[in-house]
Amino acid sequence: MRLLFLGPPGAGKGTQAERVAQRLGIAHVSTGVMFRQHVADGTELGQTVDAIMKSGDLVPDELTISMLEERIRHDDAADGYILDGFPRTLAQAQALDAHLGAEGLDAVVVLDVPEDELVGRMMSRGRKDDSEESIRNRLRVYAQDTMPLIAFYAERDIVASVDGVGELADITERILSVLDGGSGGGLNSTV
Ligand code: AMP
Repeated sequence: MRLLFLGPPGAGKGTQAERVAQRLGIAHVSTGVMFRQHVADGTELGQTVDAIMKSGDLVPDELTISMLEERIRHDDAADGYILDGFPRTLAQAQALDAHLGAEGLDAVVVLDVPEDELVGRMMSRGRKDDSEESIRNRLRVYAQDTMPLIAFYAERDIVASVDGVGELADITERILSVLDGGSGGGLNSTV
């Protein structure tokens, strides 16, 4: 199963993607985690993306796409994966289509969290790129570059919106239930 988790920064995508991936026994693929690892390791890519990440801008598509394509060729991704934080632009979504074919994704989970909660959540997690200015920029970049992807995938009838407010474990169950199509949920529904 190949899934994509979408949602604004601070919505809890990373946490939920990790939990759901574990439950389903598939890989969790986060471009943000991969970039942070490059920065920590001081690789050439890490040095290139460090300042971009701190500002909250997006890393250029060509760097991001080639890193992601290499990642999903690994053995642990053979049985499926959850993409978390990729694609974030239309160009990345088109590159993913070119790589997987337009039928490549089984479902897109959109985590819904009200905007006034997002900033508070990000301020409290203490990540290096979570300065107030960077957070504001990331929200702007999300609205401008990433939100259009919801409509892009909705045309394929594979989008499910999930309420991302509440207890971690409850949100995980909501996501699993829409993926299952059970409990009155299912794709193209809001839970
Ligand atoms: P995240 O952990 O998903 O919030 O990503 C942290 C930062 O990494 C973002 O603010 C971007 O600077 C960069 N990044 C992660 N994924 C992507 C992507 N798909 N395209 C461009 N930049 C990305």
